[in-house]
Amino acid sequence: MIKKYDIALLRGDGIGPEIVDSAVRVLEAVGEKYNLAFTFTPYLIGGSAIDAVGEPLPKETVEGCLNADSVLLGAVGGPKWDSLPGHLRPEKALLGIRSAMELFTNLRPAKLYPALKGECPLRADIVENGFDIMIVRELTGGIYFGERGYREGKYGQEAFDTESYSEMEIERIARVAFETARKRRKKLTSIDKANVLETSRLWRKIVHEIAKEYPDVEVNDMLVDNAAMQLVRNPSQFDVIVTSNMFGDILSDEASQITGSIGMLPSASLGNTSRGLYEPIHGSAPDIAGQNKANPIATILSASMMLLYAFNEKEASDAIVSAVDKALNEGLRTADLARGDTVALTTSQMTDEIIKRL
Ligand code: NAD
Repeated sequence: MIKKYDIALLRGDGIGPEIVDSAVRVLEAVGEKYNLAFTFTPYLIGGSAIDAVGEPLPKETVEGCLNADSVLLGAVGGPKWDSLPGHLRPEKALLGIRSAMELFTNLRPAKLYPALKGECPLRADIVENGFDIMIVRELTGGIYFGERGYREGKYGQEAFDTESYSEMEIERIARVAFETARKRRKKLTSIDKANVLETSRLWRKIVHEIAKEYPDVEVNDMLVDNAAMQLVRNPSQFDVIVTSNMFGDILSDEASQITGSIGMLPSASLGNTSRGLYEPIHGSAPDIAGQNKANPIATILSASMMLLYAFNEKEASDAIVSAVDKALNEGLRTADLARGDTVALTTSQMTDEIIKRL
């Protein structure tokens, strides 16, 4: 029996349309193999929405995403819209769609492909065995959303930001993390600053309570300062990491950098429904837009995450990951990864090669 899924496509700006179209072609190809039928409905977002209808996140886009089974996003923004006032900036649409879809989890894998070891800034002996880390970052709570402001202090004006986390917020992100670990190598590291912060102590307590429901997952706590060190000292020790909004923001950028290749990294933002929003971690790359040069792999891998997390289609999801692995192992490279005499493939050629290996 054919399973059907409706996907809202937010192509966005710059290289967005090129890379989203690559991911659509890969999804169609994998769908044929695994009896999945996708309907793709495009909606406007970002600068292209501003140009077409005068606002970065039209109501139809929000409604379309809320009614779809899942959402695939390219990227938004570009110099053309940089001087617009804050509420009209393309990036405003990103926060708007995440909040409209109540996406409280950000999943960011950081994987070092053996074929791309040369791109990693860490010493060869440290990354000999590669690494494959999934960071589960809380996305809608903590200090980025807490009370803030200015007040008169003893030495003049002072600024403050506050961090608060409720039991509910910690519990729901912890559950996502345990479920994620269950689908992987069953090892979870919860990162906090429990030696100093009250929010971290509550975080730790709730994580330990939820852990009782997941006896098959091995869990350990790590202080954030140590985690920042361990990520560059011995990244292969990590499987799944769960952490707060701000710690996750910082650690996920550190983790993405040690893979050495921005065009390779996908992400998923999830809420209470299975729907979710899937997008590459890079931006709209205006410097190479429209040139068929962009690396489509981050978006193709975002589509593979969608198959796993939104639709529970593990086999089809794995097929995409292994096709990407094969293409890289056989030395195929887009311009961002090509070195020396290697001939760089275009966006569409790399997409074709991945499809051939599905
Ligand atoms: P960027 O990620 O767009 O580009 C940084 C560098 O990486 C550029 O040299 C670019 O060519 C390269 N690059 C990025 N993705 C690539 C890919 N798939 N293949 C090959 N090379 C790639 O970051 P930036 O230049 O700081 O930002 C450009 C625009 O994107 C800005 O308007 C920014 O606000 C926006 N942005 C959007 C998102 C998003 O939509 N989620 C995220 C970050 C930045």
